Amino acid sequence: MVEVNGLNIAATVSCLVVRELDNHDDTIIKLSTFCQPSNREKQPATSDLTANMENIDRSHHPFTVIVAGAGIGGLSSAIALARRGLKVTVLEGKAELNEFGASISIDPHAVRILKSFGLETLFCRCIAQDEFNEIRDGASNKLLGRLMANHANTSDILFGEQKWSIHRADYQQVLAEAAQQLGTKILFNAEVVKVDIDVRTVHLSDGRALSADLIVGADGLRSAVRASIREIAGIDLVPWNEQAYRCSVDKNKIKDNPNLAWLLDNNTAQVWSMPGKYVLGWPLPPNKSYDVVACVLRDCDVPLGHWGVKADTNSFRGDFEDACLEVRELLASIGPCVQWRLAELPPLSTCRSVDGSVVLLGDAWHAMLPHSGSGGSSAIEDGAVLGECVAWASESNRPLSDATKAYEHLRKTRVERMQRASHEGVGFLSASGDFRTLRDGLLAQQMEADNVEFAKSEEVRRAQPLPAADMNAPFPSPPYLQWLYGYDGIGEARKYLAGL
Ligand SMILES: Cc1cc2nc3c(=O)[nH]c(=O)nc-3n(C[C@H](O)[C@H](O)[C@H](O)COP(=O)(O)OP(=O)(O)OC[C@H]3O[C@@H](n4cnc5c(N)ncnc54)[C@H](O)[C@@H]3O)c2cc1C
Repeated sequence: MVEVNGLNIAATVSCLVVRELDNHDDTIIKLSTFCQPSNREKQPATSDLTANMENIDRSHHPFTVIVAGAGIGGLSSAIALARRGLKVTVLEGKAELNEFGASISIDPHAVRILKSFGLETLFCRCIAQDEFNEIRDGASNKLLGRLMANHANTSDILFGEQKWSIHRADYQQVLAEAAQQLGTKILFNAEVVKVDIDVRTVHLSDGRALSADLIVGADGLRSAVRASIREIAGIDLVPWNEQAYRCSVDKNKIKDNPNLAWLLDNNTAQVWSMPGKYVLGWPLPPNKSYDVVACVLRDCDVPLGHWGVKADTNSFRGDFEDACLEVRELLASIGPCVQWRLAELPPLSTCRSVDGSVVLLGDAWHAMLPHSGSGGSSAIEDGAVLGECVAWASESNRPLSDATKAYEHLRKTRVERMQRASHEGVGFLSASGDFRTLRDGLLAQQMEADNVEFAKSEEVRRAQPLPAADMNAPFPSPPYLQWLYGYDGIGEARKYLAGL
């Protein structure tokens, strides 16, 4: 086992940072017109999804649900609710789903949920399955270590599911398509400004008002729904002294550059680590640009909670002028660049209104730093568990407050542990001084240990005992990852609800 300051480093870099890119695509939802198959065979888009609808019990009167926010978490909840027969309307503040963003990882616990939603076929057309992530010295391009993902089926052997990565725009659009196919309405230009909890009514910026039995706040970092729940209304985002940039590079420019062409040789993400800063590059599927995200540890005046603030490309390049030729040439090829300031929410005392009719999920509830890469996958899990709880209440004639109480019980400890873990990944990629020397030595040892592991047959590796899951183990130690990735959110929710 290789450890740095108590942290096991046999985790993927995609665990450490979720990356997004603002590409300003003018894509609007058009069913089945996105995620063009790359080199994969075309497959039927909806058979698995509709197969899941067959067992819906329509004999009871289902609750109506409004979800504020068509992000990853909001759409996950819409799917989970709609596939159980509930009537869902999603209100999205933007004019369309032209989602910014570059690659984002879908960790094994979220893959498990998406497959149980029947979405594997839809996702297969848009995901990449990274083999591993290479960590390089940013000044010399020397390979320091590899963090495993799907190479030799490692993720499947350890956690029972693969690890996927996807372009954020595709992620949201696949989820939106699935939600719509299940009967969910998505209303655009529907910016929620406040919720009147007593009458379960959502007020929009254009003066419209909509009511439902349940209101779900999935409206991200600066949640208007959160601000309407009296007990937590005053809680502010906490800024973090780290400035991030995101941009992309046309793959043709990479192919044509002899210093960079190797970046496209396989599904391998790169991290160029330098003291106080780092650059990540992800290849993504062939039909997408090469993603670049960089972080520099420093205070900055970028407004909190905004993902698409334009950045000065030259000043970004200037931050890395002491990097190796490969990094400088990569940054010389980037398109427009955006920046944001890292921020998080402190743990909240509750995620629901006192009467249980308004509930939060995802970033609106537990925004975390990107250093453990759990923001997106935790939101998927929230949505799935909320769907189980509300469907249970609806089907067993329980009040909705029982459903949101069960949801809070199932989620609070887990998401708060994820929030703490996002601090434990801080500093790993930007290590300097003695810590860096120690880290590099341990990365080298880990590479050797991995080589021994991969020399074994898959049968032998599958027969080896797994580490016991332990939520209190440090991120990203194997027991912690077993707790995080090995979790079956829907299964656990069903077990818990069956005992109520
Ligand atoms: C454009 C964008 C870029 C991002 N880039 C990064 C990144 O680079 N790195 C990173 O670590 N994380 C990033 N994230 C956050 C990351 O994707 C989330 O942590 C994760 O997906 C959790 O999802 P969520 O659904 O809770 O929130 P989000 O993904 O933030 O989705 C919230 C949704 O609600 C909508 N919304 C917001 N306010 C309102 C309102 N008042 N009324 C109606 N709708 C509203 C938003 O338009 C959005 O569609 C980004 C999120 C967004 C929206």
